[in-house]
Amino acid sequence: MRSVEPFVSTAANDAPRPLVSLRDVHLSFGANPVLNGIDLDVFRGQAVSIIGPSGSGKSTILRCITGLLKPQSGTIEVDGTRVDRLASEHDEIALRKRVGFVFQQYNLFPHLSVLDNLVAAPVRILGRDKKSAIRHAHELLARVRLADKAHAYPGQLSGGQQQRVAIARALAMQPDLILFDEVTSALDPEMVGEVLNVIRDLVRDGMTCVLVTHEMRFAEEVSDAVFFTEAGVIVEHGPAARVFREPASPRTQAFLARSL
Ligand code: ADP
Ligand code: MG
Repeated sequence: MRSVEPFVSTAANDAPRPLVSLRDVHLSFGANPVLNGIDLDVFRGQAVSIIGPSGSGKSTILRCITGLLKPQSGTIEVDGTRVDRLASEHDEIALRKRVGFVFQQYNLFPHLSVLDNLVAAPVRILGRDKKSAIRHAHELLARVRLADKAHAYPGQLSGGQQQRVAIARALAMQPDLILFDEVTSALDPEMVGEVLNVIRDLVRDGMTCVLVTHEMRFAEEVSDAVFFTEAGVIVEHGPAARVFREPASPRTQAFLARSL
């Protein structure tokens, strides 16, 4: 066990710098304030969960981290780069290579085989040599337990299998971190476990992960830190065991009482 660490480190030099850092992020859609001062850090190798009611801003936080959405104020850094004010398309593409995003709708290319779904972006966007991209794709399919599906088409796979391909496709870009937005919410219950097993393996292997999930027991099991959002505010955050077992805020207590 590490000793108590401040959430925001103030030490100048030797403190680890967060891989992802949001500071006082405010974002509105028109007149609708959706993020009202979000502070959130993710350190390399951590698994961080964001939980909270529907409409509380969880997906919006993830889209801000990918640079897809720009807040009206506050700062967002990924590995020291301000992604809330990327100037060029070139910078936007550079960010997208580093941040993997897997969401509820797997959005695989239906006309491409599973293998080609994994090879397309590394070859076209990263400029990888096709042979090595294919070799890597086979390794990743083994990792998500789909080694035998390389030549299948998405339409021939179950939802759980397609979601695992989507995770492998994100990994094929060798991202620094992966954001998972309710990746099991659209799946039949019997397929949820196989997808969570793959995410659990990634977390154990040290991949930096941010999870938005309604799978509370899974979040408690794998997360280093948990953030509870409500109405665009982080009501409470802390180590998973503490937030889930001894929530300090009555809002968190009420949410968990409904969700666990
Ligand atoms: P969560 O993921 O926690 O369910 P979201 O981040 O998706 O919440 O949404 C937060 C709020 O922002 C909701 O009120 C939603 O209706 C609103 N919202 C999200 N995306 C848009 C958008 N593109 N345009 C307008 N309002 C949006
Ligand atoms: Mg959402």
